Amino acid sequence: MKHPANLKDHSLESLRERFVSEGVPAYRAAQIMNWLYKRGTEDIHQMTDLSVALREQLASVWETRAVDVRKAERSVDGTQKLALATKDERLIEAVIIPEAKRNTLCISTQVGCALACDFCATGTMGFTRNLTTAEIVDQVCRAKERVGEDETISNVVFMGMGEPLLNLAAVKESIRIMIDPRAMGLAPRRITVSTAGVVPKISELIAMAPINLAVSLHAATNAVRDILVPINKKFPLEVLLGLLRSDENVTRKRPVFFEYTLLEGVNDSIDDAKRLPGLLRDIPCKMNLIPANSHPGGRYQAPAQDVMDRFAETVYNGGMRVTLRRSRGADIAAACGQLANTETTAGTSVEIPI
Ligand code: SAH
Repeated sequence: MKHPANLKDHSLESLRERFVSEGVPAYRAAQIMNWLYKRGTEDIHQMTDLSVALREQLASVWETRAVDVRKAERSVDGTQKLALATKDERLIEAVIIPEAKRNTLCISTQVGCALACDFCATGTMGFTRNLTTAEIVDQVCRAKERVGEDETISNVVFMGMGEPLLNLAAVKESIRIMIDPRAMGLAPRRITVSTAGVVPKISELIAMAPINLAVSLHAATNAVRDILVPINKKFPLEVLLGLLRSDENVTRKRPVFFEYTLLEGVNDSIDDAKRLPGLLRDIPCKMNLIPANSHPGGRYQAPAQDVMDRFAETVYNGGMRVTLRRSRGADIAAACGQLANTETTAGTSVEIPI
C-alpha cells in the first residue's frame, strides 16, 4: 500500500521546496508548521490563516497524522507506555518518563530491530520496516497530548524500538523538525540518539546538530560484546572507539554517553570495571550503568545491588563520570530493552482509557 503524502514527513525547508514545485507559495510552509507543532492542530480545515480554497486543496492531498494511541499504561512511578498504531497497523511503542522538572520521551525508529542484541526484547521481534519521518515526529505529538496542560515534552531520547542509525534519513529529518524554532523548537542538547555502534553512520548524524550521542557499549572486551551486541563483529570496539576519538564533532560540544547494561555473571566483574576507564581514555564521556531488565524469554538478570554498587565505584575510582541508573516503568514492561509489544500481565499498572 502506498501511503498518502504526510505533512509531518517534511522539515520546513523540504516542505517549502515541495510547495514551490506544486505552485503553493513557500511562506505557507511556515504557517503550517506553526499549526502542526506549536498549536497541535492537525485538521487542515482549521488552519484559519490559509484561504479556504488552499485548505481544501491541501486537505485533498496531504495527511497530517501518522500514528494513533492504541493503548496507554501508567506505571506506579508515573512512567507511561504508549502502544501506537501506524496506518498499516504496525505497533510501535513510546515511553513518557516524568522527572522533577521535565518529561523525557523515549521514541522508536523502526518496527522491530535487525540487530538482535542478546539481552534486548525488541531484538527478538526481528525487523519489519523503518518508520517514516512522520511516524517518528508524531510520537512526540501524541505524547504531548498526554502530559498535563502546562507541561510539555522537554527531552527526546531515540532509545525505543529499532536502531536509529539504520534509518538515518528519516531520523535526521525528524530531528530537523524537533530542533527548528518554527516547528517543535527543542534545543539540540535536549535530544539524544542512541546507537548500538553503526560506525559508518555516526559522523553524518553528529555533524547535523550538537545533539547528544549515546553508545550502547555493554562490554569491556570484544569477546563479550560479540555475543551481547552482534554488530560488534562487523564494527569491533577498536573501530567504534577509534571513530569516537577521531571525529571532533562527536565530543566537541557534549560528552558521549556510554550505556552499559549490567548482566549478572556476564559483564559485571571487577576486572571489567577496571578495564573500562583505560578502554575509553581520551573520550570525554559519561558512563550510564543500567541494571538489566528482564523480559519474557530473556535469560539475563541484574546483578545484586552490592555487585552493581562495587562496579560503579570501581569505574568511578578509575577516573570516569558514572551513574547507576534506576529503572523506570519496569512493572509495565516499559523499561529499557522491554519494548516488544507484549501484553503486560503486571498487576501494579493501570490501563488508561484512551
Ligand atoms: N539500537 C539503539 C537504540 C535502542 S536503545 C541502541 O542499541 O543503542 C536500547 C537501550 O536499551 C540500550 O542502551 C540498551 O542498553 C538498553 N537495553 C536493552 N535491553 C535491555 C535490558 N534487557 N535491560 C536493560 N537495558 C536494556
